[in-house]
Amino acid sequence: MSHKVICPVCGKHEFENVCDYDICEYCGWENEDQFEAGNANGLSLADYQKRYEVYLYLNPQYTFKNNGMPELTAKERCTYWHQFSLSNKQNCLASDRCGCFFCKRIFESSLISEHYINDKDGKTAICPFCGVDSVLPDSKVELSAELLEEMYQVWFGW
Ligand SMILES: [Zn+2]
Ligand SMILES: [Zn+2]
Repeated sequence: MSHKVICPVCGKHEFENVCDYDICEYCGWENEDQFEAGNANGLSLADYQKRYEVYLYLNPQYTFKNNGMPELTAKERCTYWHQFSLSNKQNCLASDRCGCFFCKRIFESSLISEHYINDKDGKTAICPFCGVDSVLPDSKVELSAELLEEMYQVWFGW
């Protein structure tokens, strides 16, 4: 009797059996039934999915089979995060906090209130402190001082 399972990360591959430790050719997920950190995949399912999303954003043709699991450079990580600083009104409204990678403050999202400008695809938040359109919402990006510093270096550093 077969117990096929769809890959929980990419949804594109079908494993023959529950927990057969086969490897998904699209995303590289090893077919196990343990989804927390410390599993055979080395990352929780949620973190694994996040990394797969970054690979796909940077390369829409990405597959584990062809591309493996490259270490991401700061520039690649920042390119991925940067998309969330544009047309981000909905994501900012859905966030408790936002961070600015120009002045590197983290603040309550409500402070943005009317600080949005129109861009071609929607409305983009402007930092209420420095006026730069470099606001990242915590609904999409795990904000930290380190992340904002890295973003600053990549986008505004010399
Ligand atoms: Zn997969
Ligand atoms: Zn700012």
